[in-house]
Amino acid sequence: MKSPGATAPRRGLPASFVVLLVAVTGSLTFLGVPRLMGVLRRVLAGAPVGPDPNGDSMDHAAFEAVHGRRMTHEGQGGEADIAEIRRNWYQRGVTGDTSPSRKSSPPGRWWAPWADRWRRSGRPEPDSTEVSPSGLLLAGVREYHGQMVPLVRPIMAELAFQQTPDHLFITCVDSRVVPNIITASGPGDLFIVRNVANLVPRHGAPVPDDSVAAAVEYAVNVLDIKTITVCGHSNCGGMAGVLAGGAEIRHLSGLSRWLRHAEPSLARFLEAESETRSDAGSDAGSDAGSGRVEEAESPLTRLCQVNVQQQLDNLLTHPWLRERVEAGRLELVGLFLDLESAEVRVLDRQAGVFVAVPGEAPNDAQDLPSRA
Ligand SMILES: [Zn+2]
Repeated sequence: MKSPGATAPRRGLPASFVVLLVAVTGSLTFLGVPRLMGVLRRVLAGAPVGPDPNGDSMDHAAFEAVHGRRMTHEGQGGEADIAEIRRNWYQRGVTGDTSPSRKSSPPGRWWAPWADRWRRSGRPEPDSTEVSPSGLLLAGVREYHGQMVPLVRPIMAELAFQQTPDHLFITCVDSRVVPNIITASGPGDLFIVRNVANLVPRHGAPVPDDSVAAAVEYAVNVLDIKTITVCGHSNCGGMAGVLAGGAEIRHLSGLSRWLRHAEPSLARFLEAESETRSDAGSDAGSDAGSGRVEEAESPLTRLCQVNVQQQLDNLLTHPWLRERVEAGRLELVGLFLDLESAEVRVLDRQAGVFVAVPGEAPNDAQDLPSRA
């Protein structure tokens, strides 16, 4: 055992809300037992306690000591949670399992939609009458508690009282856009703002909105984040409404008002389309068949991409923020998620086009094995 450490109870919290997490790394043997027991004895009566063995092995003396302490604690009305992160030494001791220890592993396809996982596990279809919508949500929470919490808890215990993200991530409310999946990030990495069509109201915009500005101000001035990303996506319903002229959403007054913040994007898109058409006209006959890559995209995709560029420009309309960017203390990033291919492209702001992520061959993601 290298170092049993304890997350100290916070002052001012009632005892019933105190959780003591004891993280154990290395080998837990009889040599480390006295020190571990000393830590566990400091637990307040009745408070939950979480020995969290993340060790390579546990000998019989260590098992007896931990298990005995757990029994005593529970006998006094307390709760004990033994979460084994790497190998199931304690669980094997409890059940008498003598087979070789196995590594604990995260549940498969944890990132997949409920419907996908339920189908694979033979459970009823999530939209069947056997499962209410809230029942499905709570089943997901139970699955999280049962399978993910033991893995996440050590990280969350470290993050519990302070966040220090370096990245502000502004994206759409669309359920298919999952920022932590497309950036392979976890708790504490991204400070996220979501709204319809990933919009950033311009400084002094005629339709007042402080929601985005408040988050940006806090992220930059308090958290001292280093990058602001605007991430758009294909088939964005919000931008489709803008492209259609707003007629279909006129009865939704709040949404219609919000999407007025996208008017500069629409104007920029229409101007670019007009330039493209006149370029195509002047090139006709001399360069037939050629065309810029983005012309192969649908008008909606082109608008969604222009919208990302425009939101980055909108950020720069805030003088204090522009100052930071120009001083090199803050970097702006544009991303675009193509839902169908699941690939993310990054904005080349100089060229005004979305390109493959630097250091990655354009078709790397397509070469991955197909889903099982
Ligand atoms: Zn969207």
